[in-house]
Amino acid sequence: MIQNDIERILVSEEEIAARCVELAHALETHYKDEKEPVLIVGLLRGSVPFMAELMKRFSFPCEIDFMSVSSYSGSKSTGDVKINKDMDVSCENRPVLIVEDIVDTGRTLKAVKHLFFHRGAKDVKIVSLLDKPDRRVVDIEADYVGFTIPNEFVVGYGLDYDQKYRNLPYIGVLKREIYE
Ligand code: 5GP
Repeated sequence: MIQNDIERILVSEEEIAARCVELAHALETHYKDEKEPVLIVGLLRGSVPFMAELMKRFSFPCEIDFMSVSSYSGSKSTGDVKINKDMDVSCENRPVLIVEDIVDTGRTLKAVKHLFFHRGAKDVKIVSLLDKPDRRVVDIEADYVGFTIPNEFVVGYGLDYDQKYRNLPYIGVLKREIYE
């Protein structure tokens, strides 16, 4: 059972659901005067459960798409991003909401935000389920954050270790013996 590999639960299923209601509320307020459908872009693969939980609470018109990216972790953090899978629709002149699982060093989000502005998005907002501010190496913040967590490696609710544990319904800390 994959549950046996978890040392402790950091954020429960109930806490995540309740926080998604609050985040959806805040996003409703942001988009209340928006005339165009909001393009919600999930960053694969970790954002999938969070995006599903969040978007079912939206009452503004929206469209969804997905992207898979990796940031270059070299010395420069200038917004270089490798696109493994691109979106199917254009974001030009559109309001975009990027959905991420966790902001860690911040490299990925900085690169993706830069890319969306470069492609002509009208407004770019970022919502992330988790934030590890102690790990940040570039200057970027998500506009909306579910939970700020300490510098620990977490899995579940979309987040993986070696592609496993994404299906856990909570955020947990993995036992050390699993990755050491
Ligand atoms: P960043 O560019 O902010 O360093 O990286 C963000 C990505 O790193 C996340 O989308 C996620 O895939 C991965 N990541 C960062 N911290 C964790 C963590 O604690 N657990 C897991 N499973 N992935 C993480």
